[in-house]
Amino acid sequence: MSLGSVDISQIIKEQINKYEKKINPIDTGTIIQIGDGVAVIDGLETCMSGELIEFPGDIYGMALNLESETVSCVLLGTDRGIKEGDSVRKAGRIVEVPVGEELIGRVVNSLGQPIDGKGNISTTKYRPIENMAPGIIDRESVNVPLQTGIKAIDSMFPIGRGQRELIIGDRQTGKTSLAIDTIINQNGQDVICIYVAIGQKRSTVAQIAEILKENNAMDYTIIVASTASELAPLQYIAPYAGVTMAEEFMKNGKDVLIVYDDLSKHAVAYRTISLLLRRAPGREAFPGDVFYLHSRLLERAAKLDSRNGGGSITALPIIETLDGDISAYIPTNVISITDGQIFLETDLFFAGQRPAINTGLSVSRVGSSAQIKAIKKVSEKLKLELAQYRELAAFAQFGSELDKDTRERLDQGERIMETLKQPQYQTMSVENQVIIFYAAINKYLLDIPVNMVTKFEEELIKFVEENFPHILSSIRDTKDLSDERKKEIVDNTLLKRIGSPDMFSKLDAE
Ligand code: ATP
Ligand code: MG
Repeated sequence: MSLGSVDISQIIKEQINKYEKKINPIDTGTIIQIGDGVAVIDGLETCMSGELIEFPGDIYGMALNLESETVSCVLLGTDRGIKEGDSVRKAGRIVEVPVGEELIGRVVNSLGQPIDGKGNISTTKYRPIENMAPGIIDRESVNVPLQTGIKAIDSMFPIGRGQRELIIGDRQTGKTSLAIDTIINQNGQDVICIYVAIGQKRSTVAQIAEILKENNAMDYTIIVASTASELAPLQYIAPYAGVTMAEEFMKNGKDVLIVYDDLSKHAVAYRTISLLLRRAPGREAFPGDVFYLHSRLLERAAKLDSRNGGGSITALPIIETLDGDISAYIPTNVISITDGQIFLETDLFFAGQRPAINTGLSVSRVGSSAQIKAIKKVSEKLKLELAQYRELAAFAQFGSELDKDTRERLDQGERIMETLKQPQYQTMSVENQVIIFYAAINKYLLDIPVNMVTKFEEELIKFVEENFPHILSSIRDTKDLSDERKKEIVDNTLLKRIGSPDMFSKLDAE
């Protein structure tokens, strides 16, 4: 009996404790207005910015506007069934996503829940989606290359691990393709890839997942997708969710590549939220803090020093321009935050120059310090000759008579432009790139008709791979191009191939 009474009083005590918690006005609030996915809540005095709010029916919201009397929050699910007067609770933590190795190979939404129909993801670790970027002391300057496998980029606009390089261009200029090729090229490079799709069509995301799978890239890739049909708040948090997953790997000393496709749509989602929250609109109706929106995201990309494990996050944000206008609000913002940009152009794309990289407007500010010596040796001259070509090509359009030197420079430029062409999903190792560009800058391609350069390039690579694999392995191992190797390239391959009659008969036959 006495034992029983102890039990009962224990239970009552516990319930009183719980009861007090439940009516604690600090933790709960009442909805005073709801609509358009935004709820205004009375109460919740100690609410934090970005904190999760529990609504009836297992719906969550995120607190964004903290005012003296009320808190405005955006819903991360449907507002159907939620009424004014309903009470809500704050969860005591800000929005979190699951992190860890288990996510690799999966397609998840911006809350980290699987959407690929392959069952639960058994992670136990969570991290808040807002996190401070690594400080200056913890960082190191970029010193390891991230090979994209794209000739034009690796040679002239090299990207280093920990760098932020913007891919910018009009619609349908091959922006996504560049990023996907870069992910595919990370096979065997010990880099974990995260592809964040923001506001894209579901079918496009499904296609990308399929392509990555076909190319065995899903073995080291996570896709975070918030498609166009999803609520603006979910699109808004998608890139932060992605970088949070990346940070877990970086903290463990791994290298991560993250693609944000694209930040224009991300800014639009944020504008929608801000207008619904009645924040003051500024230029192009974007809120005043739209710069901070992207700077706090991109600052989280970093190369940590060895005391912090030496991991890195390389970010490839994508921005879509209208009519090539890179001076619009969002493009200029993001250009100023990143360490360079790859500028893609519609005109080049339709002229058949694909990838359609404008070599005059693209830059990479830090990557060259990570570039291997062998490619650095050829890239300087490549850039110079292309710059001269662009200048002369503009004049040559007038049709005036050209002297021999000018003619040669134009011919040379045309051939270099040819060598920069590259089909999708066919990335090239840096050793092979060195051979091609070495041939180009030393004028060995001048005797080859422009429309046969691509064919010659294929032939040359095959020839070297079959007959002189040690040239390639020596570039790979020493990362340099010694004079001895140079001589070998010229004597054994270039002179032989270009001079050999069977080469041209083979080219002609096709
Ligand atoms: P969007 O603005 O719709 O996102 P985008 O700029 O991301 O477009 P992609 O979807 O990557 O462009 O490519 C547009 C089209 O160009 C696709 O059909 C793709 O197959 C083709 N394409 C891209 N790169 C190349 C290439 N190097 N060679 C040939 N075709 C290419
Ligand atoms: Mg795209």
